[in-house]
Amino acid sequence: MEDYPRNLKEFDVRFRSEEACREYLSQLRWPDGFRCPRCGCQESSPVRTVLLRCRDCRHQTSVTAGTIFQDTRTSLRLWFQAMWWVTTQKNGASALGLQRVLGLKSYETAWTWLHKLRRAMVRPGRDLLSGRVEVDECYVGGLEEGLPGRLNLEKALVVVAAQEDGPGIGRIRMRQIVDASAQSLVPFVQDSVEPGSIIHTDGWLGYLPLEKKGYEHEIAFLRGKIKTPSESMPRVHRVISLLKRWLMGTHQGAVSHKHLDYYLDEFTFRFNRRRSKSRGKLFFRLVQQAVAVEPVPLDRILHPQAKVKSKPQSVGVW
Ligand SMILES: [Zn+2]
Repeated sequence: MEDYPRNLKEFDVRFRSEEACREYLSQLRWPDGFRCPRCGCQESSPVRTVLLRCRDCRHQTSVTAGTIFQDTRTSLRLWFQAMWWVTTQKNGASALGLQRVLGLKSYETAWTWLHKLRRAMVRPGRDLLSGRVEVDECYVGGLEEGLPGRLNLEKALVVVAAQEDGPGIGRIRMRQIVDASAQSLVPFVQDSVEPGSIIHTDGWLGYLPLEKKGYEHEIAFLRGKIKTPSESMPRVHRVISLLKRWLMGTHQGAVSHKHLDYYLDEFTFRFNRRRSKSRGKLFFRLVQQAVAVEPVPLDRILHPQAKVKSKPQSVGVW
């Protein structure tokens, strides 16, 4: 079922032509065969090279229509190379790196491509975390995009959930939030964790309503000896420190608040698949999701409708 190249050599052989790339997209988009997006008919005939015409309603479509590749003026091969590169970089991909590797003329193009791909890194309708989950917030950032080294004192508040997996970390979720109020924290937990799970937090008031929302709430009491947050909730704090290192390392802190959510998606995508034996499998997932998400107009990439409506306020959380 999961058909993907194992290494660069296989990748090169497999995706040598536009046709091969289109065929692969087609397999992932219509695993049970073509289906007309308008009437559901499963019969089509090819029109020129890229179009398919529905037998019943005559609607013309293509495998890239309605996906992030829609209206692309670049070859699919180049997109495939971008996706391969993005998923095989252990620590993630910067726009500058992508520009260099693909020999793209402009940095802006590389930047836009990466943002389009990040939109495909969150699986629509993905599974919720369950079991025991540690949740905490942290501040990230401080540098403004495009101005390396220039200090921006505003930091963004991010809430992180890390599922326990024995002594290790299972899957994670994260989101930028306006403040650490219950109105910000509780909906995040509800969107990320199955009801009935055990949520482990510090004693912050914002988490108190969780109990009423159907979660078992465990507060890290600092009983007897004084424990630091990283001792009482080691998993979520490990994730937070990796996230900070990743933002400062791969992206050199050059992430603005309005785009932060998508970087969080990329981090989560990579983290949740960090044990994948084959990098090719990440590539497969990314392509699979890229044909499942709607295209995003450039304007919305440049000016995302902020999920965070106002400036993060200073609230006393660790
Ligand atoms: Zn049709």
